[in-house]
Amino acid sequence: ADAAKPCISFAHFGFEEALMETIRRAGYSEPSGIQQQAIPVALSGRDIIGIAKTGSGKTAAFLLPMIVHIMDQEELDKGDGPIGVVLAPTRELADQIYSEAKRFAKAYGLRVAVVYGGASKQDQFKTLRSGVEILVATPGRLIDMIKIKATNFKRTSFLVMDEADRFFDLGFEPQVRSICDNIRPDRQTVLFSATFQKRVEKLAREVMTDPVRISIGNVGQINSDVTQVIQILKDDTLKWKWLMERLQELEALGSVLIFVSRKNGVVELTENLKNMGVKCECLHGDMVQQERDKAVHDYKNRLFPTLIATDVAARGLDIKSIRTVINYDVARDIDSHVHRVGRTGRAGEKGTAYTLITDKDDRFAGELVRNLEEGGQPVSPDVLKIAMQ
Ligand code: ADP
Ligand code: MG
Repeated sequence: ADAAKPCISFAHFGFEEALMETIRRAGYSEPSGIQQQAIPVALSGRDIIGIAKTGSGKTAAFLLPMIVHIMDQEELDKGDGPIGVVLAPTRELADQIYSEAKRFAKAYGLRVAVVYGGASKQDQFKTLRSGVEILVATPGRLIDMIKIKATNFKRTSFLVMDEADRFFDLGFEPQVRSICDNIRPDRQTVLFSATFQKRVEKLAREVMTDPVRISIGNVGQINSDVTQVIQILKDDTLKWKWLMERLQELEALGSVLIFVSRKNGVVELTENLKNMGVKCECLHGDMVQQERDKAVHDYKNRLFPTLIATDVAARGLDIKSIRTVINYDVARDIDSHVHRVGRTGRAGEKGTAYTLITDKDDRFAGELVRNLEEGGQPVSPDVLKIAMQ
C-alpha cells in the first residue's frame, strides 16, 4: 500500500498550480534525486529517514510535502499554534530554512516564523502569539517558547528534523525527546541528513512510526562535485605559510570558508589575516547574535571573500558563492568533515576542499582513508602513512 513511486517531474506530484508557480520561480526545473523519492512518500503520510549528499535539495524535499500537509488540515482556519515544526541545530540554519519556507508558503499565505537563541524573546513571543502555521526553531528556544506559553503544539501534526543525526548526539537529545513527547504521537515525522550513523539511526527510530528509509548514494559519502585536496604538513607552524601562499588565488575563484576547531583559534586566525590586509570576518558561538547575523549576511552578499568559522558553520548553510573550503584544523570526525566540505559543490556546482593534515592527526587520517576508499577515491601514500601511525 505504501508503494509511492518516485516522480521524475514536478508535474507528477499533483501539486496545485500556485505551488508549481513558486517552484518554477525558484528556478527548479526538475526534482533532484532525493526530491523524486522522498516527496511522494512524504505526501502519502509516512515517516521518513532521508539520507542524501550535501547540496542535493533536501530542504524542498521536506518543505513542499509539509505545505501540502498543512493545506489539508481541517484546523487550518482555527487555532494559532504551528501545524508544521522544523527543528534545526544552529541559528543560522534555522534562519535559512525560514527564508525557504516563506518563499514556498507564500503561494498560500501561510504564516511562517522562526525562533532561536540569542534573539529577543519578547519579539518572538509576540510573533508566535499572533499565530503561525510553520515554525522553524532551534530546540532550546522552542522549549522556552512553549514554557512561557507563547505557543503550543495542539495543532502540530508534521515534524521535521533537518541535520537530524545532530539531534541524537550529546547535548540535543534530551531537548528533542521532550519536544517529541509533547507533540501528538500520530504526527508525521521526517528526518533528513547527509550522514546517519547506525547507532544514531536506532535512537531516531524511537521517535518515529515505522519510517521509510530513503537513501540516495552511499550514506556519509562526500559529494563528488567537491575535489578533495589533502595537504600533508610537517607541523602546525606550516599551516599559516601554506595559507598565505594560496589565499589570494583562491579568493579570486569565489568565497572561501576556513574551518578552525576552537573559538579562540578562529579569533586568532581572523586577527592575523586582518593584519595581513585580508578582508575577512569570523563566525563562532561566543559572538553576540547580531554580530553572527551580520557576518553571515555580509558574507552571503560578498562584502568580504573569506569567513573563518568553527563547526557552527559546518552544517546546512547554502551559500552559492563558496568555491573553496579549507580545513585549517581537521574536523573532529569524518561526519563533520563531510558536512564541512559540503558547504561547496552545491546543486551541481563544483568546488574544492583543502584539508591540512599533520602527524598528530593520525586518528582523523584513519577515518578519512576509510571514507576515501569506500568512495573509490585515490588515497595518497602520505595520508596512509599518517593513518598507520
Ligand atoms: P541540502 O539540504 O541537501 O544540502 P539544499 O536544500 O540546501 O541542499 O539545496 C541546495 C541548493 O539547491 C539550494 O540553493 C536550493 O535552492 C537548490 N535546489 C534545491 N532543489 C533544486 C532543484 N530541484 N533544482 C535546482 N536547484 C535546486
Ligand atoms: Mg540541508
